[in-house]
Amino acid sequence: MIRIGVCRVLAAVVTTLAMFHPSGMVMAEEPAAVLGRRWKQHSMTQPKPPVVAGQGSAGLAAPPADAVVLFDGKSLDKWVSDGGEPAAWAVRDGFFEIKPEAGSIQTRESFGDIQMHIEWASPSPASGSGQNRGNSGVFLMGRYEIQILDTFQADTYADGYAGAVYGQAPPLLNASLPPGAWQTFDIIFRGPRFSADEKLLDAAHVTVLHNGVAVQNNEPILGPTSWLNFLAYQPHEMEGPIRLQDHGQPVRFRSIWVRRLPARIETFAEQAEPPHAIAKTPSELAAFAGAFQMGDDEAKPPVTMTVDGKGLIVRFPDRPVDMPIVPVSERVFEFVNTDATIEFEVDASGKPGNATMHIGGSTRSLKRLK
Ligand code: MG
Repeated sequence: MIRIGVCRVLAAVVTTLAMFHPSGMVMAEEPAAVLGRRWKQHSMTQPKPPVVAGQGSAGLAAPPADAVVLFDGKSLDKWVSDGGEPAAWAVRDGFFEIKPEAGSIQTRESFGDIQMHIEWASPSPASGSGQNRGNSGVFLMGRYEIQILDTFQADTYADGYAGAVYGQAPPLLNASLPPGAWQTFDIIFRGPRFSADEKLLDAAHVTVLHNGVAVQNNEPILGPTSWLNFLAYQPHEMEGPIRLQDHGQPVRFRSIWVRRLPARIETFAEQAEPPHAIAKTPSELAAFAGAFQMGDDEAKPPVTMTVDGKGLIVRFPDRPVDMPIVPVSERVFEFVNTDATIEFEVDASGKPGNATMHIGGSTRSLKRLK
């Protein structure tokens, strides 16, 4: 609880600090993204992503079993226009194509944290230049655009290349394939987190593989993507529709699926139950201490156990840290930080002898050395 609390407070502090202009003036409306940047948005002098040969799509692979298929090659039933009307883009033979000026489309369903696969192809033959050459985009939660553009042997500003977090983060590499070739995006997206009082707790993050090449590596998204200006985060729901952009050029799409990513159970929300130690005197503990051969390999350095406070310290020859164990019954010790125990044999007089370590559903023998 405490540890995640500290992380969240720090994140909030960082966000708040970023709202202060270096002049000391409070810039309440200024998105954090603006401050301290080396290049203006859409800079043509920002280095362009180096070219690398992408893999392309080897054909239509079956989606994972738990995927929501958003296009099955036949219909746009899962999509609507921005106004909620049936999507007006043209479905052809296993793919669909932007109908220029018909408007963007978005999914009927809403999504939050996702893994997404989408295949797209730039118009062929290519026409237009810069941002008017096969422009579209995948808007995650309807707000955060991963740019689609024909940037195969074509130039534009770095933060507008295919695979860019549009206007924010150029792709690490230019993995574009020629016009007409089916290209893939595999996107792993974590939405932003907002507090109950609508403060930003954590930015959205995105990882993108373009044609099998990682072009965004858990990149923090600075706010809603936008042309000409950075925008500050506005609180929103945990899920939103995925939009595909109509930028006036007939980009094609096929094989679109999404997997909802489950939230990880909070590691620090509850403290792990500490061992319920029982009291043993130093001399009682000393009887358990000693050197032990783990397993059958006599050549291996021994495991040692020494008295330390109310328990023992175990030192494995090939582990970098000492591990405390505490007695939880007459002859069983529990590791403080690991879900494991060491159970000692005792002879008729009660003297501890060999032991067995229980971990992960299996056992290791510990033979006491003289
Ligand atoms: Mg676009």
